[in-house]
Amino acid sequence: MNGPSTVDLHTHSLRSDGALEPAELVQRAAANGVRIQALSDHDTLAGIADAMAAGAAVGVRVIPATELNTESEWGDVHVLGYFLDPADEVLEGRLRWLRENRGRRVELMVERLQALGYAISLERILEKAQGGSLGRPHIASALFEAGYVPTYDAAFDTLIAKGAPAYVERVGLTPIEAVELVCAHGGVPSLAHPGSVTGLEALLPLLVRAGLAGIECHYGRHTPEYTGYCLGLAAAHDLVPTGGSDFHGRGEHGTEPGDVPVPPETVALLEARRQRATIATSEG
Ligand code: AMP
Ligand code: ZN
Ligand code: FE
Ligand code: FE
Repeated sequence: MNGPSTVDLHTHSLRSDGALEPAELVQRAAANGVRIQALSDHDTLAGIADAMAAGAAVGVRVIPATELNTESEWGDVHVLGYFLDPADEVLEGRLRWLRENRGRRVELMVERLQALGYAISLERILEKAQGGSLGRPHIASALFEAGYVPTYDAAFDTLIAKGAPAYVERVGLTPIEAVELVCAHGGVPSLAHPGSVTGLEALLPLLVRAGLAGIECHYGRHTPEYTGYCLGLAAAHDLVPTGGSDFHGRGEHGTEPGDVPVPPETVALLEARRQRATIATSEG
């Protein structure tokens, strides 16, 4: 890794399943040399205002973003949406629905775990989430805290990953709907960590037709070969190669904000797509 990078387009705070307050996250990124950062909490823009205020104080431009997780026959398709507006009430309504679905899913998974003999409580999980968008990482962390699993990752592997005993299907968007939702609200969608997609080359044209504008080529767990493969897909489908640390603050991705090199011109390329989307809309 050649970091630190001045650009990080994928980070999570306590408003979803990250461990730091949005302001702390931006300060940490700034200390690492980051100058442009997207806060991309799952299904929420609630941290954007705090992150922007902190960014103004430490010289980091914060790009408002979210990450929409989908699970389907295409595997884990996560769509990053850039330049979304936290004041967009229709968008907020859709994100709220996704967060409510997250809450019900976590409740069901806790019930399954309890039936399997794991005495973890929903109360403790809600306490850990501190009002943020709920997710399986909160369950993993509660299982680890209670001593039921040797590591945070082991909670996924043995209990809550797809196919594991306490796994419950997500209710939410399809990959195409996730891309369309971002476009419909003036955002710029990029496919996160394409390595988690099943049938990437078959899905990609469908997402591009729905409005996909980017693909996350620069990512901590990519080998140089896989990054090269993604850059080839970006060129073939006229997508902006994006990238980021996917920092959550718990060390599970083994990263720091800014530790994945992202070319500085990436942000201007994404902004150009935003204008393209606006023109397409205004021309009907
Ligand atoms: P959720 O959206 O609630 O299904 O949680 C998905 C999040 O859990 C992802 O964004 C990752 O941060 C994390 N995650 C998913 N699978 C694993 C795994 N096998 N090991 C560790 N973390 C994982
Ligand atoms: Zn996450
Ligand atoms: Fe993701
Ligand atoms: Fe993420």
